[in-house]
Amino acid sequence: STPVATFCALLRAARMGVLVKGGDILESLGEIRVAAFDKTGTITKGEFTIDEFQVVGDKVEMGQLLYWVSSIESKSNHPMAAALIEYSQSKSVVPQPQKVTEFRIYPGEGVYGEINGRHIYIGNRRIMTRSSCQTVPETGEPRGASVGYVICDGDVVGAFSLSDDCRTGAPETIRELRTMGIKSVMLTGDNRAAATRAQDQLGGVLEELHSELLPEDKVHLITNLKVSSGPTLMVGDGMNDAPALAAADVGVSMGLSGSAAAMETSHATLMSSDVLRVPAAVRLGRRTRRAIV
Ligand code: ADP
Ligand code: MG
Repeated sequence: STPVATFCALLRAARMGVLVKGGDILESLGEIRVAAFDKTGTITKGEFTIDEFQVVGDKVEMGQLLYWVSSIESKSNHPMAAALIEYSQSKSVVPQPQKVTEFRIYPGEGVYGEINGRHIYIGNRRIMTRSSCQTVPETGEPRGASVGYVICDGDVVGAFSLSDDCRTGAPETIRELRTMGIKSVMLTGDNRAAATRAQDQLGGVLEELHSELLPEDKVHLITNLKVSSGPTLMVGDGMNDAPALAAADVGVSMGLSGSAAAMETSHATLMSSDVLRVPAAVRLGRRTRRAIV
């Protein structure tokens, strides 16, 4: 296509809220056969509410536990962190991130922090293995969709559950893609229960659901989809999605709430949280391709 035609098409995409990094990417958008969506922060709002928060064992009391959790999570920008901090503050606990002497992020698992020489991990079941936790809580899992644990020096000291709802427009997006002949799948680092909850809210329109994935598992699934189903689009917001966004034929990041890592590795960025822009962008890509051939 001519440089002017390409420029005009990119401008049109930007006006509909999709920042596309080049004319070739717009053409690839027109060829998409599969759309893979991350769950947390992409299909869902990424605004969690805490359903339950409990002390496990008798090593710590609630105030101390909330102080550790909120101080460490203050260093994270994961959607769950904001909910945990807000919950602690509602119980009059003030987070003190300056007391956290060491901090690490384990994408798809959780976070680690050191406070007063104590080694504290917060995250899903995977984080237990990493923290060389010996005792799995017998109190039974807290009820709710996503479940998290707090581990201090090898012992589970807390457990919590949280849930998050789908974005308005997400069910329509998936349905519209289907009418365009594009199948939709969901890839999430969260557990099966949370993935199923999102699937139900979408009205059961997803063709595939994959849960408990690490960042590299998302990459493998994208690679497999490309082989089995053709040109693949991936939409995601987190640093855990960045490698999969790069592996997709077209990686689309969430501009308003997404991480810098996702925006850097993606080929296009949604300038609003409206995932409905995805089918519109594919349509524009199809028109652009037709204009060329
Ligand atoms: P998704 O793929 O749905 O966006 P992530 O890969 O970001 O999910 O996270 C996967 C899981 O890792 C979460 O469901 C949570 O259990 C755990 N996790 C990640 N970051 C944190 C954190 N900062 N605090 C607690 N748990 C976390
Ligand atoms: Mg996410």
